[in-house]
Amino acid sequence: MTSLSDLPLRDNLVGKEPYGAPQDAVPVSLNVNENTHPIPEHVAIDIVQSLAHAVTDVNRYPDREFTELREALAGYLGHGLIPEQLWAANGSNEVLQQILQAFGGPGRSLLSFTPTYSMYPLLASATDTAWIPVERPADYALTPELVVAALREHQPDIAILCGPNNPTGTPLDRAVIEAAYDAFDGMLIVDEAYHEFDAQHESAVTLLPGRHRLMVSRTMSKAFAFAGVRLGYLAADPAVVDALRLVRLPYHLSALTQAAATAAIRHADAMLATVADIRSQRDRLAEALVQLGYRVHDSGANFLLVGGFADPEATFAALREQGILIRNLSIPGHLRITAGTEAETSTVIAAIAALGVGGARS
Ligand code: PMP
Repeated sequence: MTSLSDLPLRDNLVGKEPYGAPQDAVPVSLNVNENTHPIPEHVAIDIVQSLAHAVTDVNRYPDREFTELREALAGYLGHGLIPEQLWAANGSNEVLQQILQAFGGPGRSLLSFTPTYSMYPLLASATDTAWIPVERPADYALTPELVVAALREHQPDIAILCGPNNPTGTPLDRAVIEAAYDAFDGMLIVDEAYHEFDAQHESAVTLLPGRHRLMVSRTMSKAFAFAGVRLGYLAADPAVVDALRLVRLPYHLSALTQAAATAAIRHADAMLATVADIRSQRDRLAEALVQLGYRVHDSGANFLLVGGFADPEATFAALREQGILIRNLSIPGHLRITAGTEAETSTVIAAIAALGVGGARS
């Protein structure tokens, strides 16, 4: 048997851990910020009909330019966006990887504000891009001053602002994005994976006119309840889309993915109908945990970062034993919990309450 250390792996991948949130088949899975509601039946039926039609043509390669899907995405985002400004790939992770392939690489750098999405440094290593982590303040909120100072100091080739930020939930103010764009000459990504859950902030797509280095990345994996299909997308200047075409693999979006996503967008209202309930479950979870003595960080997303656990790994393990999966991201004293259905939220609240003060079994 050969082990990884016997192989001539690229230097910048040596010692790295693959992304790997547990995927246990448990009754209550609240660990990867999915929308835990199933998609509506009438939408499922329409998607299946679209797939049935698409499958009759799979002897041919799919539309390389996914024209119909880009038109649908432009229509969904609104704000006067045209299909030439839209791009998509198999999850927004792939979109982010393509951005790094096009604008990062050896001798170039990516800056992000930590704690933030754990894939950013992994995507940086995979593309041989230097990663520059800059720590957020204690409340995790970014300010124009902090962001401008970091970008002026490091002058990265690419910066990512995640709003709302994973894993903290922290919303992102428009003034921060505007100040960041003006503070450096590199490409600025706003990662809006959780945007639909944030009732307070307008999408950064409204900032695109006149800002050709700005890219707004979105996904159907979260609010849209479509994680299994793998469809992430991006809105940017058409020239940015031309750059991504240089690095995408030929026909990277399968005909079935294109058909399923286009059909789902036809039913955007029905697909997003659970968002209001998820927000209210998040707020109910927050109130319950505060009552139990935990510190809950302000969240504009479908999850909460919760502090006050005496031994987060022990609490994570105790809940896992009961069939409840949440996330330990190694932030001291903290765990992250996705807001699920009403029943799932009740189950996790009751289970944490039963563990006693600080999540330690008494
Ligand atoms: N960005 C953020 C902030 C995320 O949390 C995630 C998923 N956890 C992604 C991007 C990628 O999601 P997907 O590839 O499913 O679109």
